[in-house]
Amino acid sequence: MHNAAIAHLGVDYAYLPFLVQPDSLKQAIDGFAAIGLQGFSITIPHKQAIIPLLAGIDPIAKTIGAVNTVWRTETGWHGTNTDVAGFLHPLKALKRDWSQTTVVLLGNGGAARAVVVGCVQLGCAAIHVIGRDAQKLEAFARSWVGLPIAKVHVHTWQQLPALLPQAGLLVNTTPIGMSSHEARSPLSPQETDCLAPNVVAYDLIYTPSPTVFLQQATARGAIAIDGLEMLLHQGAAALEIWLQQPAPVDVMRRSLQQQLGIA
Ligand code: NAP
Repeated sequence: MHNAAIAHLGVDYAYLPFLVQPDSLKQAIDGFAAIGLQGFSITIPHKQAIIPLLAGIDPIAKTIGAVNTVWRTETGWHGTNTDVAGFLHPLKALKRDWSQTTVVLLGNGGAARAVVVGCVQLGCAAIHVIGRDAQKLEAFARSWVGLPIAKVHVHTWQQLPALLPQAGLLVNTTPIGMSSHEARSPLSPQETDCLAPNVVAYDLIYTPSPTVFLQQATARGAIAIDGLEMLLHQGAAALEIWLQQPAPVDVMRRSLQQQLGIA
């Protein structure tokens, strides 16, 4: 999608993939500086490890604890995280008041951190996070202490049925339902019956679309959002940082759909 945007804008750049081993990260970004790269995306497993190697990061990347976009400045590489902007884009398009909304978030991994920050930015009333590992859940809850984030409540999956009827926004951040587990959903049929009919169900997964989770929620009358717009808008936000001009979002969406075989 980045190269489609670059071709459309007629600017002299290319977006290229590089496989970098964890012990070569510093060498790689020093090399990027030496050859004059404008900026780069950074993904698993380097999103946290790169932070001490940068000259600075935005507050949002600090709060999430991960960087996905880096650009060159006079003092060195600077990082931010565009996942929150990507996550929020389809929710803002609904033009709702979220201040009375209870969020239930399935999973407590990397993407869940951007979702928590996004829900705080929306002004949601309460955020409940469901996870399967009690220690990781406690660490997740503790990680927000002292940061400008309202209290995040953590729960195990056994508590999910009691929380679902209150959920105005239900977000799946687990990989359950991705192509490798295609016929699965994070919700059992009984749990699906607990959903409020007007819930907004958001699956970060972008292929397949719709996932079983979104099919279940739609059958209950939910508004369904898949992960494509998040993927698209986090990429568009990065491109706008590097090129300092508006990204051609429709061109990028078509390219993404073609690449993912969902055109
Ligand atoms: P991650 O850091 O590995 O986190 C995954 C979370 O799901 C963890 O909390 C994990 O629990 C939980 N989980 C995994 N398998 C599970 C299972 N069978 N039952 C219950 N919980 C399970 O991954 P991530 O980076 O957050 O990504 C998560 C998903 O979001 C992926 O599908 C990814 O493609 C998608 N994503 C989409 C976008 C987008 O732009 N649309 C952006 C980022 C991520 P444990 O920690 O206990 O293993």
